[in-house]
Amino acid sequence: MEEHILKKSSEELWQQAVSLLRDVMTTDQERSQMERYFPLFTSHEIEGEEYIVGMEEQFQVDWVSPKLSLPLERALHAAGLPKEIHVRFVVKQKQENSIQTIPSPELARNKPSDTQRMVASHLRGIPSTMPLHENYTFENFVRGPSNSFAHAAAIAVAKGPGRTSYNPLFIYGGTGLGKTHLMEAIGHYVLDNSPSTSVCFITSETFLNEYVNAIQNNSLPAFREQYRKVDVLLMDDVQFIAGKEKVQEEFFWMFNSLILYHKQIVLTSDVSPKNLNRFEERLIGRFQQGMVVEIESPSYETRLAILKSKAQATQKIIPEEILKFIAENIRSHVRAIEGALSRIVTFMSMQSDIPLTIDIAKHLLRDSIEEEKTIKDLSISDIMKTVATFYGVTIDDILSPQRTQTLVTPRQLAMFLSRKLTTKSLQEIAAEFKKTHATVVHGARTIQNRIDSESELKKAVEEIVLRMGRKPSDIIE
Ligand code: ADP
Ligand code: MG
Repeated sequence: MEEHILKKSSEELWQQAVSLLRDVMTTDQERSQMERYFPLFTSHEIEGEEYIVGMEEQFQVDWVSPKLSLPLERALHAAGLPKEIHVRFVVKQKQENSIQTIPSPELARNKPSDTQRMVASHLRGIPSTMPLHENYTFENFVRGPSNSFAHAAAIAVAKGPGRTSYNPLFIYGGTGLGKTHLMEAIGHYVLDNSPSTSVCFITSETFLNEYVNAIQNNSLPAFREQYRKVDVLLMDDVQFIAGKEKVQEEFFWMFNSLILYHKQIVLTSDVSPKNLNRFEERLIGRFQQGMVVEIESPSYETRLAILKSKAQATQKIIPEEILKFIAENIRSHVRAIEGALSRIVTFMSMQSDIPLTIDIAKHLLRDSIEEEKTIKDLSISDIMKTVATFYGVTIDDILSPQRTQTLVTPRQLAMFLSRKLTTKSLQEIAAEFKKTHATVVHGARTIQNRIDSESELKKAVEEIVLRMGRKPSDIIE
């Protein structure tokens, strides 16, 4: 009985998904290509966590699955398949009651859902686009001083893609601070307000892989062609193509052509354009020609506001005191804050009869809190090591009394960074450097002054700070 229901609903889902796929195809060519796939399927059924689609031959599976898995999955989800269930193509011979009918594509449609939109983008010939996270919308983005500028720029771009001077919009900042969220919010907004716009959301890593594939398969023209159809290109984590000259060159030309046709480009990166290493100068120049905005670590108030908003979405009543405790103790980035909240929520669901106290919360979050401490406190020896490596000297050189200029700069710089990036007292720093307290103060001040006037030194400092996983804005205003 149960099996029967499952089978029937699987059939219904399939029919609807197929109609949907047809419905979003715009050109005859796409349509006819899709029509050729359908007779190849031998079966479809839900098996546990998967929606299994059968095909006669392995080569067919290999051919169809990269092209169709995601659009089909999206269409099936839109038709009502639970989101946890994923599509997988397998080799399966034809059975008696296999797929036969495909309904006519006449399907009354309202405003397309998120899911349908992604399908639409796929079938408009942008196979590389990745689905947008449903929750990464402007509505779910909490504004605060750390991100308000980036937020405003993102809204402006979303309202007039390609029509503002914010082209490209370059969003940068440390990990887990909301860059991807904001970028995807632009995608959602654009698709909500003009569903026929083709939005491509991709990481630079995927772009790189596709480029490499295109070269190997001799399909560079097709690779280029698909991006020509893009109205809004959202490229996440552009830093991944550092040092990859060929793909940078490809991207440079694509970039120029999109801008020329007033298409919108949005980029994210963990560092600002000028701090991107191993990037072509001309590309960095292009990145800077629109709008460059930073997202910084959220303040206590913003962390608390984010927590309240996320807590509300869980529909659990979490005591304010606990939210404050999290906001006070988890400071590094929003992803860590979400992790902490989710641990609390899991506890509340599983132990609904035990009231949540601060002590329990402390216990549940002990690991994250420990981690936060180590993030905050870089050790002085880490700083010495990074500085020494950067300048090609040794830690012993830094600790030595020798006063040659090649050693004085790294030594003073390490002192400066120890003051800025650790919570160690002057006495402790002096002791570790085997110098007097006054020498450390003098060294740090010297660097501070030189940074203001020597751009080379400033660049070096920024590079070193980044190597230690910190942001230049932590030390330079
Ligand atoms: P990044 O791309 O900068 O590494 P993400 O955009 O992936 O960071 O954000 C990490 C998580 O934090 C996501 O789940 C995102 O929804 C959440 N987040 C970040 N900033 C905010 C914010 N201002 N309001 C609400 N959620 C946020
Ligand atoms: Mg990201």
